[in-house]
Amino acid sequence: MKETINIIGAGPAGLVAAIVLRKHGFPVKVFEMSSDVGHRLNGDFQGLENWSSERDITELLKDIGIEINFLCVPYYGGTVYAPEMKPAEIKSDRPIFYLVKRGAMPGTLDMGLKEQALSLGVEILFNRRLDAFDGKAIVGTGPKGGDAIAVGITFNTEMEDKSVLVFDDDIAPKGYAYLLVNQGCGTMVTVLYREYRRGNECFDDMKRFFKDNMALDIKNEKKFGSYGNFFIRDTQAHNKKLYIGESAGFQDCLWGFGMRYAILSGWMAAKSLIDGSDYDMLWKKDLKPMLETSLVNRYLFEKVGHAGYRYLAKKFTSGNPCDFLRKHYNPSFSKQLLLPLAKRKYESRVRDKNCNHENCSCVWCRCGERACP
Ligand SMILES: Cc1cc2nc3c(=O)[nH]c(=O)nc-3n(C[C@H](O)[C@H](O)[C@H](O)COP(=O)(O)OP(=O)(O)OC[C@H]3O[C@@H](n4cnc5c(N)ncnc54)[C@H](O)[C@@H]3O)c2cc1C
Repeated sequence: MKETINIIGAGPAGLVAAIVLRKHGFPVKVFEMSSDVGHRLNGDFQGLENWSSERDITELLKDIGIEINFLCVPYYGGTVYAPEMKPAEIKSDRPIFYLVKRGAMPGTLDMGLKEQALSLGVEILFNRRLDAFDGKAIVGTGPKGGDAIAVGITFNTEMEDKSVLVFDDDIAPKGYAYLLVNQGCGTMVTVLYREYRRGNECFDDMKRFFKDNMALDIKNEKKFGSYGNFFIRDTQAHNKKLYIGESAGFQDCLWGFGMRYAILSGWMAAKSLIDGSDYDMLWKKDLKPMLETSLVNRYLFEKVGHAGYRYLAKKFTSGNPCDFLRKHYNPSFSKQLLLPLAKRKYESRVRDKNCNHENCSCVWCRCGERACP
């Protein structure tokens, strides 16, 4: 009989780890602090990015044993706005992203993964917040701090399906705003990497912007706020715990496309327990170069301002957007050269939020704040 693997947090990272381990015959227990999966999200649409690797993300999911039993709609294009520029149409011959829904309702990624896990016999213990855990575990407890905040709404609409992206520091300081519509449901969000106190004001400005630029139809709107977190550390294996997803700082520092990191790191942690491979080696080989490149991208993006946003918008529309994005999401010599600068700039924000105390059982890992000695 294989030993039981304990997983803390039933987000995409934790659930993928649970599914993969269970498929390899491990008994798995998942501890989730909320009464169901997806409570951190709000029924909002997110994009599973499909540009950073050649292999289509849905194929990648199948490769690691994840079924598509959730809403997962390919989007091949959209409209991009940048200041003092006409809106530009983006078109691609392969899906740029797959639209998924997040939250605790039917059809979401979270519910789909939960169903897969339960049908395999994973035990999920809800309403079980664990701040400390003695012994071996996989920790996938999500973000611990706010390196970016999001303010948005979900709504019903009669608008046709669309995806719209806006770069404008007045609406989303050093970030972006987006509007996603699918089959009568919509999500509109501003993501701020600076000036967090302006969150509500930016939200109002964003809404006004969309109203001024298109025929908006919004019913039953529900407002939400959330945050994301990124940092880079040298090890993700500490005191018999393997850290995955955003609790390990795995996040796209440029724009917050963290789902791919969450899913892949969950799979890597499971793989390391299945075949005895070194988890640190696995994520450092495939995730660290992307993470570091995304940090340099953030550094550059924050420098360019409105002229740079116009340049980006033109680049998205002038050729194949997936090729353009893939080139910039993957490591290059020049980005490697800029890494020390980027690391220095984000040192305080990127600092290790995980626990480094010897023999500490803390899983929340803003060490010293909770269960740590
Ligand atoms: C508004 C918004 C928009 C986003 N858009 C995109 C997008 O378009 N594309 C993209 O790829 N990514 C996007 N992201 C990021 C993406 O949602 C995250 O990167 C991803 O959900 C991280 O998965 P995770 O499993 O690491 O953590 P989470 O999804 O946060 O899951 C962590 C789970 O652990 C549980 N938990 C926490 N602490 C404990 C504890 N102590 N004990 C037990 N359980 C605990 C939580 O309740 C939660 O269920 C967005 C994020 C936000 C907030």
